[in-house]
Amino acid sequence: MKIKYCWRCRMDVPMLDKEEAEIASKLLSEGFQEAKKQMKAPISENFKKLLNYYKDLTGFEETNPNAIMHHIIDMYGPDCENCGKPYRTKTATICPKCGNKRNLKENLS
Ligand SMILES: [Zn+2]
Ligand SMILES: [Zn+2]
Repeated sequence: MKIKYCWRCRMDVPMLDKEEAEIASKLLSEGFQEAKKQMKAPISENFKKLLNYYKDLTGFEETNPNAIMHHIIDMYGPDCENCGKPYRTKTATICPKCGNKRNLKENLS
């Protein structure tokens, strides 16, 4: 888990690393199974395992399982060399925050 800036939420949020994301997506699919069984139960009830896992990990009380599933380090690029905010994608060449141009070729070699 790492605190990173999320472009969708426009704030720093705890993001999951690869192993944590794997567990989270497993708990997410379990949540969908629960949701099928108990259509009337609130989302926070069906996805309790995922929400609790995230809370234990991050101390952040998230109520929306979808928010957790886009807080995965692997979905974003590395941090900008200039301002430290993550690039939006792995292949992004310009930082949306400070306009820093990333030398992609150099980084790949
Ligand atoms: Zn977010
Ligand atoms: Zn930047």
